[in-house]
Amino acid sequence: MNVRVSALRSYLESICGSRNVSDDPEVLYPYGSDQTQHLHFPFDMLVKPGTPEEVSQILRYCSSNGIPVTPRGGGSGVTGGALPVQGGVVLSMERMNRILTVNNVDGYVIAEAGVLTADLCKEVEEYDLYLPVAPSSMGFSMIGGNVATNAGSIRSCKYGTTAQQVLNLEVVLPDGSIIWTGANVRKNATGLNPTQLFAGSEGTLGVITKVVYRLIPKPRAEVLLLAGFRTLEDAVNMVAALKMSGLSPSAAELICDNALQFTAAYLGGRQPLVQEGIHTHLLIEFQEPDDVLMHHRLEAASALLQQHGCAEVLVGSTAAEKERLTRLRYAIGEAMTSFGTTYRDVDACVPLSGLLPYIAAVTDICRRWQVPLICFGHALDGNLHTMLLLNSQASLQEQEALDAAATEIYTYVTSHGGVLSGEHGIGWLQRKYLPLQFDEKRLSFSRHIKSLIDPANIMNPGKSVSTF
Ligand SMILES: Cc1cc2nc3c(=O)[nH]c(=O)nc-3n(C[C@H](O)[C@H](O)[C@H](O)COP(=O)(O)OP(=O)(O)OC[C@H]3O[C@@H](n4cnc5c(N)ncnc54)[C@H](O)[C@@H]3O)c2cc1C
Repeated sequence: MNVRVSALRSYLESICGSRNVSDDPEVLYPYGSDQTQHLHFPFDMLVKPGTPEEVSQILRYCSSNGIPVTPRGGGSGVTGGALPVQGGVVLSMERMNRILTVNNVDGYVIAEAGVLTADLCKEVEEYDLYLPVAPSSMGFSMIGGNVATNAGSIRSCKYGTTAQQVLNLEVVLPDGSIIWTGANVRKNATGLNPTQLFAGSEGTLGVITKVVYRLIPKPRAEVLLLAGFRTLEDAVNMVAALKMSGLSPSAAELICDNALQFTAAYLGGRQPLVQEGIHTHLLIEFQEPDDVLMHHRLEAASALLQQHGCAEVLVGSTAAEKERLTRLRYAIGEAMTSFGTTYRDVDACVPLSGLLPYIAAVTDICRRWQVPLICFGHALDGNLHTMLLLNSQASLQEQEALDAAATEIYTYVTSHGGVLSGEHGIGWLQRKYLPLQFDEKRLSFSRHIKSLIDPANIMNPGKSVSTF
């Protein structure tokens, strides 16, 4: 940074107004962290622009003066993407929070990037429309952050990740140009596709200021099945059968025995299907346009469950029943942090055919390094949350053991056709593993794109591709 902090503040205040700029340490403090373990980084200036034009002027100034800029959405990231690791400016999108258009003829919504994900979902449902992919952090993540991380959800197995929901983005580039990356239509074969380049770019290429999401009609019927299995093998074989059946469930969440026992102990009382002889849960959801189609789906699913050794199944169609059946799944995160523990979420994605060997490998690795392990997640996508637990008072030796276990897991994944991250991104925490995934030619390809768009390397330096 080759400009004085006072000059930076004066400039930003002249663009956004003094109440939207701060260098007060107390105001800055929460913006120095996200949801990544207990990490915190100090930085120089917080700015909250209100328009793309303001973002444009900020980026142009920061490019000219070599000032790092970390775009920030809801700060719910778990790989440290929003951590200002090189100081400089944190650019918070919180003021750009308007939903601009819901088009129920063409089926899309246009909104500013700082809209909370849950607010967008609620608004479009007023029009009988539906955004099918929203992360479970939807109450505190923003749509710009979801696009920037290419977030997934439990429903990605049916509908894809966030990138597949995006038709078009308004983006401010580091030189201050404001561009639209696509068009508000369903098909577009008009040259290169920058929309997909910015989806998952983790703030390293520019600032997303508006998002156009494609929407679908709201499904009229939604039913949950909680299936208990005696063995992990039976449950994973059921997932493979579901995939081949064409039944297209909207979720198939695997909860391994370690997650089951740990969370049941945290919740206390009797939990559905937590009982003698059941060691794995599969939470299967169907979303269909009507009850007739749903009836056929459930009949076929029930036959499949019987064929694949399901010990018992519970069905939920009312809100209260669904809450009861999903309670344990959604309490896993809370259970992990409530015992004074923190965790490293290895959200690797492997081919479905390699899921069982993957679980065996991580179990063995964690046993050898004596790292407590919790495994659950999006089985149909081959994308499990492999949670390595760490006590908040952990010794250096325990932290090193966790790092060593994570490195072994990533090495296993990348040598068995998988990827480092299925939905959380690379961010700060996983950057050092990129060379396990990519050879020098592939790293250099990403580096070239980055340096073409951001020659001064101001956008989220030190993250993901910016590291190499
Ligand atoms: C309890 C919990 C549950 C979660 N569940 C899920 C889940 O189901 N699926 C999932 O995929 N993830 C999940 N996450 C992780 C996280 O919520 C997602 O990665 C989310 O998409 C981040 O959005 P955000 O607005 O909080 O972004 P932030 O954390 O603020 O930022 C994330 C990255 O995006 C960049 N960024 C943010 N906004 C912009 C913008 N407008 N322009 C350019 N770059 C930007 C940042 O620089 C950073 O690199 C969960 C996290 C928690 C804590």
